[in-house]
Amino acid sequence: MAKRSITDVDLTGRRVFIRVDFNVPIKDGQVEDDTRIRAALPTIRHAIAQGATIILASHLGRPQGKRAPELSLKPVATHLAGLLGQPVTFAEDCVGEPARLALERTPAGGVVLLENLRFHPEEEKNDRAFARDLAELADVYVNDAFGAAHRAHASTEAMAHLAPEAVVGLLMARELEHLGQLLVRPGRPFVAVLGGAKVSDKLDVISSLIERVDTLVVGGAMAYTFLKARGVPVGRSLVEDDRLDAARDLERRARARHVRFDLPTDHVVTERLEAGAPHETLSVGDPAIGTRMGVDIGPATIETATEQVDGAGTVFWNGPMGVFEVPPFDRGTNAIAVAVAGMAGTSVIGGGDSIAAVTRAGVADRITHISTGGGASLEFLGGRRLPGIDALPDR
Ligand code: ADP
Ligand code: MG
Repeated sequence: MAKRSITDVDLTGRRVFIRVDFNVPIKDGQVEDDTRIRAALPTIRHAIAQGATIILASHLGRPQGKRAPELSLKPVATHLAGLLGQPVTFAEDCVGEPARLALERTPAGGVVLLENLRFHPEEEKNDRAFARDLAELADVYVNDAFGAAHRAHASTEAMAHLAPEAVVGLLMARELEHLGQLLVRPGRPFVAVLGGAKVSDKLDVISSLIERVDTLVVGGAMAYTFLKARGVPVGRSLVEDDRLDAARDLERRARARHVRFDLPTDHVVTERLEAGAPHETLSVGDPAIGTRMGVDIGPATIETATEQVDGAGTVFWNGPMGVFEVPPFDRGTNAIAVAVAGMAGTSVIGGGDSIAAVTRAGVADRITHISTGGGASLEFLGGRRLPGIDALPDR
């Protein structure tokens, strides 16, 4: 089952193409958050140490197949050079002359970063000819972009079949190991804490987790679709009315499998979503909610959720428990972040907003594994096959 990995091949003197996920926020020509760039450093350093010539490629944003100066990866080249402490040659195009020339100018142990792959419409079309142009740049193809593995694009799928050798990078290998363990042999009890905005985004993952977990703790806006499905008054809380049947069905299935299914028992309600807006804690179901909306889990819910997390052998957390961008509605999310960091077993977090929450709470270094792939980690845990991984040969 394990994929052939970068550590299985000799990279000495070879041209190594590494598909990375450098889809990072950039503002005024500066990288705002370099978490994803840092996550790729072990693989890049490994290839440098072996004396390879490294070609890095990534997408950035959604340029719709056209050149868009504000979505250039050039600022990333500068930032990466700083992190590596060595020059990074930037190629103004990911294929053709600019890419070839940049490579010719780069000695063994040197690094080239190619311009945004998505400036070419062929990338998202998984175009074979384009993938061949990319593959011809290198001797070895390494996929280290877990966050893009759920998409069948030229640089993640077609290219893996066309390259002389194709392997996973160190980051990808770690993702597969930790997330794979959740699917295969999680330490028990296995508790999943799910929140965030939309049930519809996460139906598959909830459905898959019901087959695997001992406890599901549901918070965030997502909880209101389940609560409304139970007939509980939810005021103006965020509900997906077209998912009420799906919510009822999921809860029924959890019950049938004897999976503990915790919805909030109290919550913080407010008239307006603004920092410092008047708010009040109510029991869930209290009709005093009126036309207000639920924006965070309350203290009793925090206590129950914390007990579940503390007693777990494995915790998977995705999605904030409330509107954590707007204090004080970040209390529930912060409390869960601290609980997940403090539990003794294995903790895995996926999802951009949950990662932001543990980072802000200052506990990120106490999480066993922080997945770099939001959508990809959810699809993986939903039991879906990821094209970018399927395309790579097994060991
Ligand atoms: P992640 O990125 O961790 O997967 P999501 O993107 O699914 O999480 O959801 C994050 C969003 O959910 C945040 O912007 C947060 O404000 C919102 N959210 C959480 N709880 C509520 C709520 N009760 N009402 C409205 N929005 C909420
Ligand atoms: Mg999100």
